[in-house]
Amino acid sequence: MKKLAVIVPCYNEELVIAESYRRTREALQKLPVLTEIIYINDGSRDRTRLMLDEIASSDPQVKVIHFSRNFGHQPAVTAGINNCDADLAIILDADMQDPPELIPSILELQEKEQANVVYCVRKSREGEGLFKKVTAKAFYRMLNYMSDVNFPLDTGDFRLIDRKVMDQFDRFQERGKYIRGLISWVGFKQIPFYYEREARIAGETKYPFSKMWKFATTAMLYFSKKPLRLATSLGFIAVLVGIILAVWFTLGKIYGFSNAETGWTSIMTSVIFFGGVQLLTVGVLGQYVGILFDEIKARPEYIIDEKKNF
Ligand code: UDP
Ligand code: MG
Repeated sequence: MKKLAVIVPCYNEELVIAESYRRTREALQKLPVLTEIIYINDGSRDRTRLMLDEIASSDPQVKVIHFSRNFGHQPAVTAGINNCDADLAIILDADMQDPPELIPSILELQEKEQANVVYCVRKSREGEGLFKKVTAKAFYRMLNYMSDVNFPLDTGDFRLIDRKVMDQFDRFQERGKYIRGLISWVGFKQIPFYYEREARIAGETKYPFSKMWKFATTAMLYFSKKPLRLATSLGFIAVLVGIILAVWFTLGKIYGFSNAETGWTSIMTSVIFFGGVQLLTVGVLGQYVGILFDEIKARPEYIIDEKKNF
């Protein structure tokens, strides 16, 4: 019999854990496969740890991984996949924005189509601010423009993956993981499943702007060299403009159609403009150097404090 694991990252989710566990368990009950839930406690500072331990001690089909501190959503999901020995896995948010009641339909679709990945596409998003909706929409489109890979739009980490994909995922060495992108990148048979994203059942988002920014830049920088190419293009344009201006002013001096001395405004403008171009391009370079620095240190992506029921 096949085994399905549900991977759930949790960070300060004391308000949703109980309900989240109840609904997930109920959805799994009816399935014709063996099931388990893997919770990753990403260094929560509230009662999440206690609550998960309690669940694990009464339900042997619940596994728990406690991180030594908060490492972030993507490392938490990575740990879930790395520690999963099931044939199939579904990645789910603890806040029930991705309803576990959909799991039977997703599994059915996977069986019918013999797909390796079923990625869930958000038809709509409930209970999220205009800012989040607009930035998320823009981000997925921008990323597709920037990168050489074509990612499905409006798709989170909520997806079903099979053993083949998990085995490939475990081979990824990079520390800055943009998981939905990497899973897309491995290939095999991937099909969409459309759903309405619901509102969080309780608590607040654990993705403040700073985390969203880090997430978005990791995706862009790890999946695209276009910012570097853009920097080169800017450099080329600047040089071209410089040459044209130099020729223009030299000829102007000889034939007397330009009086270059009175050019305070134009000098200031070009100094500021080219200064800006230089800072910008050095900044882009710096971003990639920063990534090299992080990756070359090869620190572990996460540190596990304790595992339960493994
Ligand atoms: N999460 C996590 N570590 C973090 C931030 C979030 O494990 O540092 C988990 C969180 O508990 C939730 C999921 O990742 O299960 C998605 O987070 P959230 O719902 O806050 O993000 P949003 O849906 O608002 O984008
Ligand atoms: Mg959420």
